[in-house]
Amino acid sequence: MKPYAFGVDIGGTSIKIGLAKTSGWLFETRKIGTPIDLSAESFLLNISEVIKQRIHARGLHPDDFEGIGVGVPGPVDEKGVVHGCANLGWGEVDVKGIMERALGIPVQVGNDANVAALGEMWQGGGKGYANLVMVTLGTGVGGGVIINRHIVCGQYGSAGEIGHLHVSDDETEPCGCSNYGCLEQYASATGIVRTAARLLDAHPEANSILRQGTPLDAKLVCDSAREGDELALSVVEAAMDQLGKALAMISCVIDPEVYVIGGGVSLASDVLMPPLQRAYKRYAFPSSRDTAFKKATLGNQAGIIGAIKLTMPDAKENKEKIK
Ligand SMILES: [Zn+2]
Repeated sequence: MKPYAFGVDIGGTSIKIGLAKTSGWLFETRKIGTPIDLSAESFLLNISEVIKQRIHARGLHPDDFEGIGVGVPGPVDEKGVVHGCANLGWGEVDVKGIMERALGIPVQVGNDANVAALGEMWQGGGKGYANLVMVTLGTGVGGGVIINRHIVCGQYGSAGEIGHLHVSDDETEPCGCSNYGCLEQYASATGIVRTAARLLDAHPEANSILRQGTPLDAKLVCDSAREGDELALSVVEAAMDQLGKALAMISCVIDPEVYVIGGGVSLASDVLMPPLQRAYKRYAFPSSRDTAFKKATLGNQAGIIGAIKLTMPDAKENKEKIK
């Protein structure tokens, strides 16, 4: 394996570019603003230009690089083509082709949630496991699926979209995806706040710290639950019940060794994990009741670290087999 690799994590507000040894040591990270007013091609050529500059500044050569891994917030197929990316205003974009032509270095592309899962498997909460599902609890609910150490992206690049598992038939508001009753509507930070607001409305007699909360956010709900606030505890219980139900369904399909829980909401894992594991056990098929639950440990570095891992032969192998 060649000694160096780049990992690129493209997000809606910033792009992180990491330079690493393929042994796993990330020794330089740059952050640039996401240029949303550019065409996809100019956008990717801008990133390629930064990479060229870093190679030059370090006195390196493109031949020193095993590859460049890129995580993108949208569905990505096996050929490195992104199929629409709402955050960036992209339609279908051949990320791999554009960047390889610009740089002369092999490029591997993955969906950001899947790539973060790969990072957690390599150096984070999922280290030592070969079959894992990462759940990211943030503004939405993201998921990444790793089987036999490889990302599963699916035919349409949407494997791991666990935030859109249908968990409720009673929902009256649409999810961002236009369906009703998606997991994300309950277990995300936004979902937790929405449930709290609904419960406060439905129980005007209930005395809760949440009534004084301005703004009412997921952190306040978790902090209040930690202090024993009954209404906040019910909100957390309801959110983790839906998540536990969804993960039990996932276990019936792929039976992973571990669920790695990350994202901003997971900072309150002391409050969330016990009700989550109780709910999971309640819904799971008997032989998968003891699936492990771990906290993600890489934080917002997971995307870059996973992107670096994406360049390596053991991560690519599966793609060759699929072709
Ligand atoms: Zn949805």
